[in-house]
Amino acid sequence: MAAPLLQQLQAAVGAAQVLPGGDLPAYEQDWRRRWHGRALYVVRPGDTAEVAAVVRACAAAGVAIVPQGGNTGLVGGGVPSAEGQQVLLSLQRMNRVRQIDTANLTMTVDAGCVLQAVQQAAAERGLLFPLSLAAEGSCTIGGNLATNAGGTQVLRWGNARDLCLGLEVVTAQGEVWDGLSGLRKDNTGYDLRHLFIGSEGTLGVITAATLKLAPQPAATTPALAACQSLDDCVALLARAQARLGAGLTGFEVMGRLALQLVARHFPALPRPLPEAPWTVLLEQSDTDGLDTARTRFEALLGDALEAGCVQDVVIAESIAQARALWHLRESIPLAQAEEGLNIKHDIALPVSAIPAFCTQTDALLQAHFPGVRLINFGHLGDGNLHYNVQAPPGADGARFLAEHEHAVNTLVFDALRPHGGSFSAEHGIGSLKRDELAARKSPVALQMMRAIKAALDPQGLFNPGRVL
Ligand code: FAD
Ligand code: ZN
Repeated sequence: MAAPLLQQLQAAVGAAQVLPGGDLPAYEQDWRRRWHGRALYVVRPGDTAEVAAVVRACAAAGVAIVPQGGNTGLVGGGVPSAEGQQVLLSLQRMNRVRQIDTANLTMTVDAGCVLQAVQQAAAERGLLFPLSLAAEGSCTIGGNLATNAGGTQVLRWGNARDLCLGLEVVTAQGEVWDGLSGLRKDNTGYDLRHLFIGSEGTLGVITAATLKLAPQPAATTPALAACQSLDDCVALLARAQARLGAGLTGFEVMGRLALQLVARHFPALPRPLPEAPWTVLLEQSDTDGLDTARTRFEALLGDALEAGCVQDVVIAESIAQARALWHLRESIPLAQAEEGLNIKHDIALPVSAIPAFCTQTDALLQAHFPGVRLINFGHLGDGNLHYNVQAPPGADGARFLAEHEHAVNTLVFDALRPHGGSFSAEHGIGSLKRDELAARKSPVALQMMRAIKAALDPQGLFNPGRVL
């Protein structure tokens, strides 16, 4: 007779790395504190062979596995369900940089490496790993790939998918697929890595990845520009793309209310520009150094001021000031969390459709939910907005969410359709948007997704109830 699951898990990873579930909020509760689960066990393997052994033990016992990295996901995909029947597999101990190939511009890392540590390891070799998001101090490469994370550099470098050349994955059968490859060209059949990227832990456990690097730019210079309307922001984007080309690495937009929340909850943060309906953060990276970057920015923003699509500008003068400008942008989600629960939307639209979508949808929301606050900010350069709806001032955020989330979502997601938009740009589906996916994705696409899930994970071992 097979040993009980606990004994097998302890044999696989060592007794100290198997924690009984319950009262482990770091693993069982998500970053937003919206999902409170309970794990059967939290299991913390130290290498790929241990992950494979855990998967085999769980498969034999018929116990589901929830993979977890930094637990910063925003759609409830990485916390166990409430019944205490799922094993939470934390990859955090797997945090080795396995290899850096400076000539090939690649780096192979364990899946549990924290994104910031990967950026730093690249920087120490004079190289850049461009993926960047506000959660980078905690999120892991495995989680970034499992969610195909976006962030602030997608405009220039693409999302996590575009930065990954190879993967190592533990399959539902407990086998190890070694697809770690530093090749930029390899047309030998189906490109399996792309199945696992963005699969949110439902098809396999990512245990390592080979990532693309780039030379470190000589200078990275942000600037802020104040705009009167989203139309003006879009006009500024077109000018910036035309003038800076690949040198334009970031184009973020921040609505007035978003920055007001930052001022309220982080009053010590400097506000270099007066309040405006929209503030754009542009970032330029190039190999020519700071002076050239400033000259280019001055020419671009000078023209934009003259054309009237920009009212006011400030260009970072120092590294400290550059950090402060980004800090402002990155503090918005934190300020929102301080303000209370809100209804988050992570939407994508063609950039050209964004002004009309916002005008129409803002008006619809105000008509149906008078007084709601639209905390609108995000990656305008990628056509990706965090179009968040916060309860009216003074109202209880949790209550507003409980009563109105479904109706608000339906209104916003229906409004996306005529513009060809997406209801999940970069955060994924998880538990939060599973029913929306079922309702809004084409039946043909859903059928193919279910066929892939059934082929790779016939037992439904990985992350059941998430995504599909
Ligand atoms: P987790 O939260 O641990 O897991 C996320 C999902 O991936 C879960 O479904 C989990 O089961 C699965 N998973 C995790 N590791 C593995 C693995 N090794 N193998 C298989 N499946 C796995 N996201 C963006 O895209 N862009 C942003 O700009 C952005 N900004 C953010 C800002 C803040 C302040 C916060 C809190 C989050 C933000 N996010 C953003 C969301 C989040 O940080 C990303 O989704 C991130 O990629 C998740 O990584 P993680 O290691 O924390 O994954
Ligand atoms: Zn984002």
